[in-house]
Amino acid sequence: MVALRMNTPESAFASLTRRDLLVRSAVTLASLSLPRLVAQAPAHSRKLAVTIDDGPAVGTGNDLAVFVRIADALREVFVAEKVPAIMFVNERQLNVDGQRDARVALLHRWLEAGLDLGNHTYSHPNLGHVELARFLDDIVKGEVISRPLLEARGKKLVWFRYPFLATGSGETAAAVEEFLVWRGYRIAPVSVDYHDYSFSGAYVRHVRAGDATKAAAHFDTVMQTMDEACTRAEARSVEVLGYELPQTLLIHCNEMNALTLRTTLGHLRDRGYAFVSMDEAMADPGYAVPGLRPGSMGGGGFFNSVAAAKRSAAERQ
Ligand SMILES: [Zn+2]
Repeated sequence: MVALRMNTPESAFASLTRRDLLVRSAVTLASLSLPRLVAQAPAHSRKLAVTIDDGPAVGTGNDLAVFVRIADALREVFVAEKVPAIMFVNERQLNVDGQRDARVALLHRWLEAGLDLGNHTYSHPNLGHVELARFLDDIVKGEVISRPLLEARGKKLVWFRYPFLATGSGETAAAVEEFLVWRGYRIAPVSVDYHDYSFSGAYVRHVRAGDATKAAAHFDTVMQTMDEACTRAEARSVEVLGYELPQTLLIHCNEMNALTLRTTLGHLRDRGYAFVSMDEAMADPGYAVPGLRPGSMGGGGFFNSVAAAKRSAAERQ
């Protein structure tokens, strides 16, 4: 791992006004005082892999400064908190005239920091809405930059995440799964999803408006929603597998997370989670239950898929 200049995430937002920073402090304080909806667990007995989609930064259009600020802030927090995150990239976001080098440099910095990359397709198509050939083409276009960057570091491009977690159905689903295997991919599952993307816009609007109270209240809701999603996933894992497997959390490379990631990670630590890499989480047998279709793991109903696989195995006996 190359030593990084250890900026706090705050420094990445140097262009925010002093009032913005005060708002951010208020948000952090507010989230510390959240009522804990935390199931009892000994410290760090749970494991979780953080997967962050729509990288390097989503929703920034052609604004290079914001794009870089979000992606750098996320990386700096993961490094400072020693979280071996994997970012699922949409390479279309790198393809902006006059900005390609600066945008690709973010992937270099991400890998230099020891973090991992996966393919999230080039342009984020929904498999339910596009032709099969177009989708497969988008998978290949999505690895043009990432694959050589990984290979130059002796690493491999392994993980694929479906946009919208839409894994298709019938022959289309099977054709995509076969294509992914043929290109050496494994499908990245999601076991905890709190739809973080749906909260980002309002959070950022409150921060920009200098409304600390609204921003803090909004972020309280985000953390409560995450807690509820964790509680469900923990319970479902015990129901279906008999134990809590290392969870795979889905979040996104958005501006809300760039501003709040440290608090979110602290909250997960408070639930007893230690952070592990995608590869370490996937070594758990819960992700390799016989009959579990790889495609079904990419969707949000991971534990339902595991339960279905176990039921059909029992029926065959
Ligand atoms: Zn996505």
